[in-house]
Amino acid sequence: MLRVYNTLTRTKEPFEPVRPGKVGIYLCGPTVYKPSHIGHMVGPVIFDAIKRYLVYSGYDVTLVVNITDVDDKLIAESNRCGMPMAQLAAEMTADYMNNLAALGVDVIDHFPRCTETMDEIVRFTQTLIQKGFAYEAQGDVYFEVSKANGYGKLSHRGVEAMQGEGGGMADRKRAGADFALWKAAKPGEPSWPSPWGPGRPGWHIECSAMSRTLLGETFDIHGGGLDLMFPHHENEIAQSECCHGKPMAKYWLHNGLMQASDEVGKLGGRSTRPTEGDLAAQEVAKISKSKGSSPFSELLKQFAGETIRFFVLSTQYRRPIDFSEQRIREVETGMDTFYRFFKRFERVTGESFYAIEVVKTLRDWDFQHEGDPFLLEVTVCSVRFLACMDDDFNTGGGIAALFDLVRTLNKYVDDEKLEELENHTSERLKNLRIGAKRLRELATTLGLFRKPPQEESAGSDELAGKLMKLLIDLRAESRKKKDFATADRIRNGLTEIGVTLEDRPGGTEWTAK
Ligand SMILES: [Zn+2]
Repeated sequence: MLRVYNTLTRTKEPFEPVRPGKVGIYLCGPTVYKPSHIGHMVGPVIFDAIKRYLVYSGYDVTLVVNITDVDDKLIAESNRCGMPMAQLAAEMTADYMNNLAALGVDVIDHFPRCTETMDEIVRFTQTLIQKGFAYEAQGDVYFEVSKANGYGKLSHRGVEAMQGEGGGMADRKRAGADFALWKAAKPGEPSWPSPWGPGRPGWHIECSAMSRTLLGETFDIHGGGLDLMFPHHENEIAQSECCHGKPMAKYWLHNGLMQASDEVGKLGGRSTRPTEGDLAAQEVAKISKSKGSSPFSELLKQFAGETIRFFVLSTQYRRPIDFSEQRIREVETGMDTFYRFFKRFERVTGESFYAIEVVKTLRDWDFQHEGDPFLLEVTVCSVRFLACMDDDFNTGGGIAALFDLVRTLNKYVDDEKLEELENHTSERLKNLRIGAKRLRELATTLGLFRKPPQEESAGSDELAGKLMKLLIDLRAESRKKKDFATADRIRNGLTEIGVTLEDRPGGTEWTAK
């Protein structure tokens, strides 16, 4: 039974969707005025994995991530760099999309743009005025916070913490806490027509309008970074619930923030940093103020997207993630355990791990292990994975279970000496295939190990592969001729440039650092 931590109630609750079998998720996306940094990619990776797991659990899931392509920050940046706002937004959106693709985030169903949602935003604002929750003031429209019952119920902060946002002039507001739904355009600013004159939306209203359009008045999961809880999410709730008279989202899930760290943490999500919910502490170390705030595309030159994805998912999503290149490198080393097994699997069975077909949902899974100790162990690891994911999407615990599973598989290959052809009984191969299939299936629900990693730079890898084969053959021939000096020279020379040779019954394998 899946349970999720709901920020609204501050408890873990059983997950029961609003409409049986269907799940709607809305995640607040980026304001596209600068290239994304790693902090921007945490939410999409987490919610991509959450969607995959929900689909695997049998739900029909719709995931929406909005793109804020008009905003004060965008206008300021477009003036600074002398580029029209629309062009700047288009370029930064493309950068964001490229980063998502590199991370294997490809299950988002809708990316609504603020500039394409103007009609709905205007209609939403009109309704709030009609219902007495908002007022117009010289071309601006403000939400009157004192009229919203229960304001502050998500963040447990009161009206007094809300500073509000002015459009042109803060003195147009009735109270300091009131925030802008619509801002009158200043000369030269991009604007859209409205009943209150040309202007643009405030930031919060787009999420209320978009989520209603794509997911309905009440949907299942609203997600976002912990830093968005107040005032952004609080204001979304005020707008939507005053407009519709019903709850906006059933479960509010807030992910921890990526923060700078010089500490070397442990793989698997144990952290000595502040625990979840400690917003103040996380804000201090937030990644946007540190060196991790360099463009994400730069980080992708150092690390494969899959490695960064693995790194993000190694922590339970509510915890802060300590960012350091050293930690990502540790993750990279850990992942070799999996890549080495995939090669072994191919050597033993002649089949690619990546070609293993997996079932789409858990319903199709049968837990038969027929009393075989190896299959029993595979089942134990798999059940542990599912238990972690059912416990508020603990991907860090899930990954630890995948490590146990891959160790179990490697041990089976060792114990049964499966690298030697004469030990290939059909029973053993069948068992190995069942175990590998479980690994592939569970990893896929986290969006991991879906494609062979070398596909990204096939050209140079192919050449390296051919050159390595040549060297390995030369070494084998030298050894056959008892010319050990040459054979050793080849091995030692390769070690010096970071290439390790491993002699196995099926041939020599190489790995490069
Ligand atoms: Zn939002």
